[in-house]
Amino acid sequence: MRLGIHMPLKGGFVPNTARAKEIGCEAIQIFAGNPTGWTMGKIEAREMEKRLAALKEHDLRPLVVHSAYLINLASTNEDFYEKSRQLLAATMGRAALYRSPYVVLHTGNHGGRGVTQGITRIIETIDADRGKWPPGVMLLLENTAGSGTALGSRLEELAEILHAFPDGSLGICIDTAHAWGAGYDLGSAAATERFLEQVHKLIGLEHLHMLHLNDSKAALGSRVDRHDHIGRGAIGLECFRVLLNQKWPAEMPLILETPEIGTDWDRQNLETLRKLSAGRFH
Ligand SMILES: [Zn+2]
Ligand SMILES: [Zn+2]
Repeated sequence: MRLGIHMPLKGGFVPNTARAKEIGCEAIQIFAGNPTGWTMGKIEAREMEKRLAALKEHDLRPLVVHSAYLINLASTNEDFYEKSRQLLAATMGRAALYRSPYVVLHTGNHGGRGVTQGITRIIETIDADRGKWPPGVMLLLENTAGSGTALGSRLEELAEILHAFPDGSLGICIDTAHAWGAGYDLGSAAATERFLEQVHKLIGLEHLHMLHLNDSKAALGSRVDRHDHIGRGAIGLECFRVLLNQKWPAEMPLILETPEIGTDWDRQNLETLRKLSAGRFH
């Protein structure tokens, strides 16, 4: 496993990679553009070369791209739906330029049409569009806290989309704070082990390519998504101790998305994780 943070855009990509390395990151996640906008902005070829060189110099791998929050492949609004497809395709293209193996996507909101129809629409959309995506970039569906009509808070929902593509072209990213918000107890070592068993049973651990390690300011099952520093929130340390001591693949990214990203909190949260991994970290 490789530990890292969600790297802020502010401050510039290349300087931020140096900082990420300095505080002990081995992997990073970024937004490809404005996470709350429909446009991504251009990156000149020379700038991309510099970024790739910085990633190599600081041995930050993998770089994972988190897609914009606006993307909703289950949208009932046709304009939103088409924009979502275009922005996801552009994000996959941008990830390929970064030589990123993964793009993380929130599965979307059914907007009142219901879970079953929402999931069907997502599957149909991915099936129709994935031929246009660049090879070598896998789409990872991230679990959600389940607020409003958000899809993907139940492992069963993620599993249904995942298993609609038996060629293994999709994967899953589990976010601890979202799982907690959705009602999955991670408040003790035993509960976390039980959660992992459920993930394995419904999804298959071989399809779990990434973890977002976040404590939560919200209550279990509240459907609220509010991240907290590791060990300071309602989840507590034991969940992270269990997750950090699994036999994950050597290249699997475990990424922090804790509050006040870009401040010294990043270093502190990374240090906490490293301590919990009790020397198994490599
Ligand atoms: Zn996310
Ligand atoms: Zn997340």
